[in-house]
Amino acid sequence: MFELAPLDTELAAIEVIREVLVHQRRLRGSGCTGRICLRCIRHHRNAIAEAMTRGRTLEFLLPAFPTKSPNPAKVLGPLPDLAEELALRFLESLCERMAEVYPPGARILICSDGRVFNDLLGVSDESVTRYAHEITRMIDRIGATHLGQFTLDEVYPGADHAELRARLTASHGPHPDELRAEVRQGGDLVHTYRGITRFMVEDLSTPEYAGSRAALQRQCRELAYKVIARSRAWDELLAELFPDSVRLSIHPHPCSTRKIGLLLADTPDVWLTPWHSTAVDTGDGRFTLMKRAEAEAAGAQLVTARGRPSHLVLPRVHATVPVLATGAAHHER
Ligand SMILES: [Zn+2]
Repeated sequence: MFELAPLDTELAAIEVIREVLVHQRRLRGSGCTGRICLRCIRHHRNAIAEAMTRGRTLEFLLPAFPTKSPNPAKVLGPLPDLAEELALRFLESLCERMAEVYPPGARILICSDGRVFNDLLGVSDESVTRYAHEITRMIDRIGATHLGQFTLDEVYPGADHAELRARLTASHGPHPDELRAEVRQGGDLVHTYRGITRFMVEDLSTPEYAGSRAALQRQCRELAYKVIARSRAWDELLAELFPDSVRLSIHPHPCSTRKIGLLLADTPDVWLTPWHSTAVDTGDGRFTLMKRAEAEAAGAQLVTARGRPSHLVLPRVHATVPVLATGAAHHER
């Protein structure tokens, strides 16, 4: 068994959490301070040190990579492309850096939540299945040995897709009325609710949508409550199934709480995720995430790889897209 002296364990635990917090996604007013938040380090230190004392591989859990947005103005298509690949490579490199500090290393289990929500987003179950399958293939292709994927399909074997969602919400979900009351009271959930509503309006504003803008807003506010309810149910289920894992999230979280918000890519808009946008080569060999339509309006051209759309490349003259420096903690705007 790998063993560290007590003081070394303490130092290694701090160093491992620092590696994660370098990429922390923060909410303005979250309480985090400094480039690397000391209070967040202190909050997660004991759990990491405990795992290290036992010589165990550190386990991280990240609900993410659900399915591509159905909106063709944002993404190149329904399957994972370079946007996902860059994010997976980033997660793998994060694990490699942790293994340099602590040789038994770390693993990140990606808990793909596509099946949890897809009916609300207007995405078919087949699309979710193909997306998840391609993520697994991508993990293999890029040799990301520290990453794995877990989906709702594995929780209730034999159940059909609608039944999976029904069983999840029946066993773990809050009622949307509870969430409505929580949003009315204000607090952290309001940001989430507004963010999700905004995203859903964007995602469902497809060329096929025929209704009014106001009706779409109304519909998306209702859907947002359902998304949050399902998300909480998924979250609780994961906590039950993986009690010892450190929880990562693509959303910002307040200082010193159970989850660490993580940025998957350098992008001027921290709300963009690889599955809501397109990887764009800014012309100087660096990549950022942009909505497809915005990048194309700036003159970006499509690049294909292995016979599929991969990413966009901007002409050099446009290579002034603001790309945030790696290593800075990013505040929500
Ligand atoms: Zn903090």
